[in-house]
Amino acid sequence: MRSYTVPAWGEPLELTEQPTPVPTGGEVLVRVTAAGVCHSDLHIHDGYYDLGGGKKLLNNDRGVTAPRVMGHEIAGTVEAVGPDVVGVNVSDDVAIYPWIGCGHCDACALGDEQNCPTPRTLGILTDGGYSTHVLVPAAKYCLPLDGIAPEVAALYACSGITTYHALRKFDTRIFANEPVLIVGAGGLGLMALTMIKAMGGYGAIVADIDATKREAALAAGALAVIDPRDADAIPQAKALAPSGRGLRMAIDLVGGPQTLQFCIDCQVKGGKVVVVGLMGGEITIPIPFIPSRALTIEGSYVGTLQDMRELMQLVRAHNLPTPPIECHPLDDAQLVLDELRAGRIVGRGVLVP
Ligand SMILES: [Zn+2]
Ligand SMILES: [Zn+2]
Repeated sequence: MRSYTVPAWGEPLELTEQPTPVPTGGEVLVRVTAAGVCHSDLHIHDGYYDLGGGKKLLNNDRGVTAPRVMGHEIAGTVEAVGPDVVGVNVSDDVAIYPWIGCGHCDACALGDEQNCPTPRTLGILTDGGYSTHVLVPAAKYCLPLDGIAPEVAALYACSGITTYHALRKFDTRIFANEPVLIVGAGGLGLMALTMIKAMGGYGAIVADIDATKREAALAAGALAVIDPRDADAIPQAKALAPSGRGLRMAIDLVGGPQTLQFCIDCQVKGGKVVVVGLMGGEITIPIPFIPSRALTIEGSYVGTLQDMRELMQLVRAHNLPTPPIECHPLDDAQLVLDELRAGRIVGRGVLVP
């Protein structure tokens, strides 16, 4: 098997060759046909997340060690299965759920493997998809493509379920009848717009400081767009609620101090703000506002295996539009990372071994 490996954090990827693993027990060996190059791979490659104020969250402090093969957005074809595997067969085309937990803690027991304290995430804690092959620890993480293109399905493993999981955090009665404020019209924001109606939602108001991205959001079905830097941006957003008095749902896909404050300021009593973005920084909230406004601020991190099953069903049932994708050969892995860092990738870069 050929892989592009991070030899040490911050160092360029290296081509490595080693014997293709033979699956044992319940393991599944998948020949990779698509591996998304995610923005978070830049942070993993660097070896840290910037927490603002000069503080860093180091990979090594969270058990993420190099050498490592990155790539957590993976689809492929099953090449071999361990003797205990049932339900997945050689030559099945599958998308892989990468947010794999330990399998025996309280979070895993609830199906919230993404919240497992000792995760085995593919492409982060174990070797992932920048490779010709990936070893998946159990068949249940291999979901049949059933008509979804591999390069598209790979993205549902990350940006797709992140968006789906965040939208699922709202009270369905409110979700069906009022708009969600979405802050950030990048890849996740546009992904949210493609699925919100299919999920039974009323629709979304999108806020972004970039006029081009606001145009893209309108084209993708946003009910209205707002420039959050406008002096009257908050009253504008509040007036778009059916009550005219404020919104009750927001998703912050940026996750910076200004965006989170904006989301909170647009809420009426009983509102919920779901934070997904990891830009960083901090805000100060007067504590009495939390009870007196019945305000919920909830974090959302990727999604569950069940979310991924449901999302793939939703995509098939509603024939949802696919996000923009650029395919590149596996040998261009470092180049695609560099282009992503420079902001030159249109849509998602996907490696096709
Ligand atoms: Zn990702
Ligand atoms: Zn666990």
